[in-house]
Amino acid sequence: SAKKAGRGRILAFHHGLEDEINERRFIEQELRLALADGALSVCYQPIVAGDGLRMVGAEALVRWRHEVRGNIPPSVFVAVAEQAGLMIELGDFVLKRALADAREWPDLFIAINLSPIQVRDRGLVRSVANALEDSGIEPSRVVLEITEGVLIDNPEEAKQRLKELRALGVKIALDDFGSGYSSLSYLRRLPIDKLKIDREFVAPLGRSANGGVILQAIVALGRALGLSVLAEGVETEEQRLLLRLAGCDEMQGYLFARPMPAAALLDATRRGVQASPDPAAGEG
Ligand code: C2E
Ligand code: MG
Ligand code: MG
Ligand code: MG
Repeated sequence: SAKKAGRGRILAFHHGLEDEINERRFIEQELRLALADGALSVCYQPIVAGDGLRMVGAEALVRWRHEVRGNIPPSVFVAVAEQAGLMIELGDFVLKRALADAREWPDLFIAINLSPIQVRDRGLVRSVANALEDSGIEPSRVVLEITEGVLIDNPEEAKQRLKELRALGVKIALDDFGSGYSSLSYLRRLPIDKLKIDREFVAPLGRSANGGVILQAIVALGRALGLSVLAEGVETEEQRLLLRLAGCDEMQGYLFARPMPAAALLDATRRGVQASPDPAAGEG
């Protein structure tokens, strides 16, 4: 077909070039096709309660398996989608897919990442309201994850939008807290319910005597502000124990489970997650 031929040409073109701009252009064109072809999917990573024993929710993570390149990570293509004007479409796809899938796990909350581009979009509140209605999901089961990036452009508008989202009954989590330039003042300035501590602060736990000092302080601060606190990137049993002692409400990481397709998550809700890192566990 003409489309197939076009695709082949793009690939051949790419192979001779190492230039970043052309790589970006390649990803952009292929991403347009992927969005149209349904080549994107969504995986789900379990989130467990602070005791590390009970699954309480799952985070939706977008996946792209390219026919030639194989899996292209979201760290690559989400940024391209943002620059290329494709983020609203990509975000809507994840929102609808995740809420539809989450219907199967009535006892879990579903966390969905929002790009700052989506938060800036005037249509966001309407899109979320429609997706909630179509899925019939209880809004209180939905957590929207934002990053400090929402404050860059127009912080007042961002705050207003988050308030409108909360008025729908969903919760807001501040993702990757502590990474980048995030400052403590964001915690007061943003209308949020939950803090996701970046794995940068989880990784040193147990490695050095004071490796957990900052983490303990962040957990205490979050709790003092009435926020629920989740630690990302939990990989070892020692980290789990220290996080539990620190008073973390929820945890997420390879120790418990990797991101997995919706069907596998449904299985896990029946089986239950166990704190056993399985290096062979894949995303299927
Ligand atoms: P994030 O929202 O902070 O998601 C957590 C990332 O950490 C995921 O990577 C997850 O697979 C990974 N992770 C989970 N547990 C562990 C662990 O124990 N150790 C390590 N080393 N990593 C762990 P992933 O899926 O590659 O996503 C990367 C980022 O891409 C996400 O970070 C998020 O910022 C973005 N992203 C993914 N899906 C979406 C989406 O649907 N929309 C938007 N806007 N961004 C997305
Ligand atoms: Mg996230
Ligand atoms: Mg995160
Ligand atoms: Mg992160």
